[in-house]
Amino acid sequence: MAEAFGTEGNPWRVAVVGSGPAGFYAAEELLKQDDPKVAVDMFDRLPTPYGLVRGGVAPDHQKIKTVIKLYERTAGRPRFRFFGNVAFGRDLSLAEMLTHYHQVLFCTGAETDRRMGIPGEDLAGSHPATTFVGWYNGHPDYRHLSFDLSAERVAVIGVGNVAMDVTRILARPLAELAATDIADYALEALKESQVREIYLLGRRGPAQAAFTNPEIRELANIEGVDLVVRPDELELDPASAEWLATQKDPTNQRNVDILRGQIEKGEGNQPRKIRVRFLASPVEVLGSDRVEGLRIERNELVKNEWGGLSAKGTGQTEELEVQLVFRSIGYMGTALPDLPFDERKGTIPNREGRVVDAATEQPLPRLYVAGWIKRGPTGVIGTNKQDAINTVKCMLEDLPAVAPGADFDPDPGRVEAVLAGKNVRFVSFADWKRLDQLEVERGRPQGRPRQKFTSVEEMLAQL
Ligand code: NAP
Repeated sequence: MAEAFGTEGNPWRVAVVGSGPAGFYAAEELLKQDDPKVAVDMFDRLPTPYGLVRGGVAPDHQKIKTVIKLYERTAGRPRFRFFGNVAFGRDLSLAEMLTHYHQVLFCTGAETDRRMGIPGEDLAGSHPATTFVGWYNGHPDYRHLSFDLSAERVAVIGVGNVAMDVTRILARPLAELAATDIADYALEALKESQVREIYLLGRRGPAQAAFTNPEIRELANIEGVDLVVRPDELELDPASAEWLATQKDPTNQRNVDILRGQIEKGEGNQPRKIRVRFLASPVEVLGSDRVEGLRIERNELVKNEWGGLSAKGTGQTEELEVQLVFRSIGYMGTALPDLPFDERKGTIPNREGRVVDAATEQPLPRLYVAGWIKRGPTGVIGTNKQDAINTVKCMLEDLPAVAPGADFDPDPGRVEAVLAGKNVRFVSFADWKRLDQLEVERGRPQGRPRQKFTSVEEMLAQL
């Protein structure tokens, strides 16, 4: 008789689709179980792992990337395999996954961006910040893009931490960027940058800004840059003042204090300016065939039906003379083949990580989600740990009841054979470590943490 599943010799088999933080935290939680034993195969459409830690975290924030050490430890555990350069839906279908795995966990994150829905949004020179982030980070999907950095004035819409990243990369002295792992082509383009003024636009007030204290402080301390605020926009309305006073987390109050600390510096005398504006919503990107300006509307804050404060237009408008616009108003998940999808939220409908049918809300057996595709694009890298642990708890609870179809074939060699049969050149973790080492070696003579390979062909050619 075959050994029962969940043992060392015959572990439960789980596929994790997506190798960002949520995928790795979930893999760790699955692999560290003593009873039952679980084997994890992790898939990524890119040859490189780590999702936004490689392709999203700003190149001048290398410390944040040290979290990779934890993920490497997970990848070193017995019963873990990495299949890079394998796209779910293209190289392996849901039906194939369910033939070879007891459960499938999707951790595909949020790959696109939210739209503003205003006229002129698609003019040349108006871009989602997510593409700029992917571009300067050498993500293969975005390496062919170009951004017209001959623009002298730029608007960044939204005041979250992605807006902070984009603004910093545009404002930072080149020599500082040259010491990072920013993509080579991005460094070349930034060398020619004419950007002198960056407007950072928050639709609500300073008390509601989504950035965190170190990030706004960093903008205030960039060499050659003045962070300029408008004192009138830092005065709080009574409802914001009351709300701030009740917050246990001091982040928002400190944000306001940091910004107020800039008042006495006025315009400053540095060559580059970051102008933070609050209570300002974009209403139209102006220009005939490319961006020539941005019309913004002054807002006031009003209580909303959930007890929070929302921005409401006052009808008073102003035009900013800008030639480049980045909308940085949030990431958005994308649908996956054969899985339900909530278009409005950009997430896969689920209950505690169990994927549910969109109409009946009944669980779809053996399918799970974790990370941004489960809850939307909020929180920092570490937020995904508890999120992944919660989903894994459900997966472990459900394992004993898993009833795969008659064609179920959990032989670990079978997946490799299926991929080989389709001529898919998959990248193992050992392959990735080789690429990793090459990147680090290439960067060393220039004093950089690494020099990234940015095209899939280039990566595969090294192996
Ligand atoms: P975010 O934190 O949700 O910020 C989005 C910003 O866009 C908010 O200021 C929001 O304002 C604004 N916004 C939304 N819709 C808008 C509209 N229609 N018009 C104008 N403004 C609009 O999103 P994010 O910056 O993309 O970051 C995503 C997550 O990653 C966050 O949790 C962030 O902290 C994290 N992250 C962290 C770091 C880091 O730790 N250094 C770096 C990057 C990202 P409202 O508040 O009014 O909605």
